[in-house]
Amino acid sequence: MNIGLQTPAQAGLKWLFLDLNSYFASVEQQENPHLRGKPVAVTPMVTDSTCAIAASYEAKAYGVKTGTKIYEARRMCPGLKCVLARHDKYVEYHHKILDAVERHLPVNKIWSIDECDCILLGREREPENARALAMAVKESIWRNVGEHINCSIGIAPNSFLAKVATEIEKPDGLVILSPEDLPGRLFDLKLMDLPGINVNMAARLERARIKTVEQLWHISPKQARSIWGSVQGERFWYWLHGYDVPYQSTNTSMVGHSRVLDPDLRTPEKTRAMARRLLVKAGYRLRRKEFYASRLSLSVRFIDGYRWSHDLSFAHAHDPFTFLHYLEELWIMMVHDCGLLPSHHNKTVFKKVSVVLHGLKRAEDITDDMFDHALEEKRKVMQKNEALSSALDLLRDKYKKEAVSIGLPPKTLAGHVGTKIAFSRVPSKDEFWN
Ligand SMILES: [Mg+2]
Repeated sequence: MNIGLQTPAQAGLKWLFLDLNSYFASVEQQENPHLRGKPVAVTPMVTDSTCAIAASYEAKAYGVKTGTKIYEARRMCPGLKCVLARHDKYVEYHHKILDAVERHLPVNKIWSIDECDCILLGREREPENARALAMAVKESIWRNVGEHINCSIGIAPNSFLAKVATEIEKPDGLVILSPEDLPGRLFDLKLMDLPGINVNMAARLERARIKTVEQLWHISPKQARSIWGSVQGERFWYWLHGYDVPYQSTNTSMVGHSRVLDPDLRTPEKTRAMARRLLVKAGYRLRRKEFYASRLSLSVRFIDGYRWSHDLSFAHAHDPFTFLHYLEELWIMMVHDCGLLPSHHNKTVFKKVSVVLHGLKRAEDITDDMFDHALEEKRKVMQKNEALSSALDLLRDKYKKEAVSIGLPPKTLAGHVGTKIAFSRVPSKDEFWN
């Protein structure tokens, strides 16, 4: 059905999904030692007529869950501790958790305050490496956020099944659904454990005489389409069977990073180094998403509020060397446009820096401009750059982010290329590959 769809075997263990267990209640237990090990319900208001919006595992053991009325919950579980929700805390923890995950893996998509997914690359998809990464993520959360913050991690050929895998073991689960052992543990689940199957959908399935995941597994994509009444049913079938249905093209059009600079990083030299680091990080994300980019923009904000922004286009690429080359060009343009002098070298001038890669495309969509027009020699350079960048990615994965970086060349503030660059012009490929 979809172009670019990967079979379960092609995708392998491509996706890691992380779901925090009893998130709000766990944050409260982390914050308040006297709530640890106790049944806790988090409520939106201080009244018994309200519902629990979260319950700790200790409360769940008594049957208390999200949506249970508090007066009923107190009856089910006499020692229940009710605490008022503090959304600011949950958001604060959300960011800390994402940082803890990102020490090991870039986050691909944040699905909700307590769920996100990541894409595994290359050898990370080998089961033992995937498992080790998942453990490293869990330990990073315990160490950097709090030892009472648990999560269930699922690893599978698509994000849907990876999420489903988080439902199989709770709390603190780690379940790998390998393509070769599908459907495997899927049959242990109830229909409503599957994302996208709510009460209404379950009723509709029941009318089609489907009451179990096993029965659902055995229908055809066509039947799924007719039960759902839309192409969504067919998509669901592919997800359930482990096919990696690619993103809708509208989902990703750019990848970028920005940073408000700490006071000691506001000199031109340090800001440039930061821009380079942010760009290498963006390139790494781009490769993980299996995209190529054809435009780079650099934006800076000065401490007096003045802003400068510009972009350059180039043939689709995904290696950091190409991107860093164009960043260098943009930096020199900025230095000239803004009248920065070599004497500004150590002065505090910048407040914020951003780099964004645009024009994202998948390899299969850019074959024409990338390979047809390229000369053999350029192709070799490009392949060398790509090989080097995947080697760097591997090292980076292995020794964690900070271990591998691409050094800053010894250039002065004014730029080694001199003053002869025409600032509004896009450099041609020939010039670049020289
Ligand atoms: Mg959760």
